[in-house]
Formats: sequence, C-alpha cells, structure tokens
Amino acid sequence: MQAWVIGNWKQNPATMSEVNALLETLLATVTDDSDRTSCQLMVAPSCVHLATVGQRLQNTPILCAAQDISAHSDSTGAYTGDCSAQQVADAGASWTIVGHSERRQYHQESHDALMYKLKHAFTQNLGVIFCVGETQEQYDNKQTLEVLNDQLAVVKDLLDKASHLAKTIADNLIIAYEPVWAIGTGKVPTVDEVSTTHDYIKTTLAGFSEALTQTRVLYGGSVNADNAESFAASPVIDGALVGGASLKAESFLAIADAF
Ligand code: 13P
Repeated sequence: MQAWVIGNWKQNPATMSEVNALLETLLATVTDDSDRTSCQLMVAPSCVHLATVGQRLQNTPILCAAQDISAHSDSTGAYTGDCSAQQVADAGASWTIVGHSERRQYHQESHDALMYKLKHAFTQNLGVIFCVGETQEQYDNKQTLEVLNDQLAVVKDLLDKASHLAKTIADNLIIAYEPVWAIGTGKVPTVDEVSTTHDYIKTTLAGFSEALTQTRVLYGGSVNADNAESFAASPVIDGALVGGASLKAESFLAIADAF
C-alpha cells in the first residue's frame, strides 16, 4: 500500500511569506527530483492560508487539506467563524482533518459534531483524515483500545445513518492514530505498541464494513527524520501525520523518504 505522509501545519507559520517560502521549497524539491519519494504527500495549512496554498498546489504532486470544517452545514449559513466543507473544497482542499485532539481538547468537539463533520466532508467529496488517540492518563490506565473503540464509533454511526455514503467513506477515509501524550512532546510509543494499536483499528473498521478493510492508518505524534524509519518498517503503519517536523521542508521530506 502506498504510504501517505501528511504535514499538519496547525497554527503555523505566522506569515504568508513564510508559508510561501515553505511551499516553494517543498515544491521545488519534489518537482526537481520526481523520484525523491514514492509517498503521497499532503499539507494542511491554517484556514487563512488555505486558498493560497490550495491554488498553488493544483496540478502538483502535493495534496492540500483543511485542518477542520464546520459541523453545522456542509455549505453556507449563519455560523460565524466556521468554514464549510464546500468552501474549503472550493479553496483547493481535497481532504480535511477531523477530530484532531487539539480540536477535541480546546473546542470540546462532541461525538455528534464529529459525525456531522464526517458527513459534510463526504457529501462534498472531501477525503477525511480522522484522528483518534488516548491521553497520557488513559494510556497509563491501559484504556487505549477502549478509548479508540469509542472514538471510532463515530464512523460506525455515520455508516448506520448514511449507508448511501458507504462507498465514498471507504474510498476517502484515513485514520490517524495520534496518542495525545506523544504530540509535540518528543515522547513516542514503541513501534510494537503502535502496530498493535493499528491492528486493532484495522480490525475494528473491518468489523464495521468489509469496504473498510483497506483503510490506511497513519501514525502521528513526535514523528521526525530520526524515528520515521522505525515506524515505516511496520507493515501496519501506512504513513505519518506530522506536526512540528512538517514546518521544515527538509525534515518533512526526510520523513517521506523513510516510508
Ligand atoms: P507533532 O509531530 O508536532 O508531535 O504533532 C503531531 C500532530 O499533532 C499532527 O497532527
């Protein structure tokens, strides 16, 4: 299975000129050396940078994703501060992240809100990178699989409610396993731990629908150029969702090289 390496730029960089510099370095490296990586690359800029990045990446090997979309409407409406699935698609995104732990933590995103985000994304033909993962406390209490089971139930509930979307979901869903305690901390689970968790996610999805047996599961949380190779060696780690290390073209591409 082709690996996917996705850069989540979060609330970075601070200025449009830094965004452009990062983007041009990435594009120059990837287009000058088309054999550089066999991975599918994608970046997720902040919503204010999305249209510029999305347009620049049209017809290039790098895909563009939004970091989030509105739960309230897939199109337009009186939802101050929100960006809809249709708007981000029109701005050049073909994917969106949904359910990142920073959104769950700082914006109290509920099970239902996440389900509507998935539904709106698929309705507008956006792919979804759906993030799941346990906190440090849940990890210490050995609750990881239980937590993932609850978080993945959003996908099951959507399948139950919108069976007409089953094929779209199967073709356009990626799960990113991101233990909250590994994000931005430099701490990482062992490759064996991640592999066990990914096996569990894959088995759970396959239990929801046979169509989900091919769903990619990426690992995220303190992935860098030094540890990427060890994750890439696992047959059930299908790529990486990268935060901090995606803000430098060289470290992002070095991670892609490893997969
Ligand atoms: P870091 O790579 O900075 O730990 O962030 C991971 C992440 O949250 C990607 O979505």
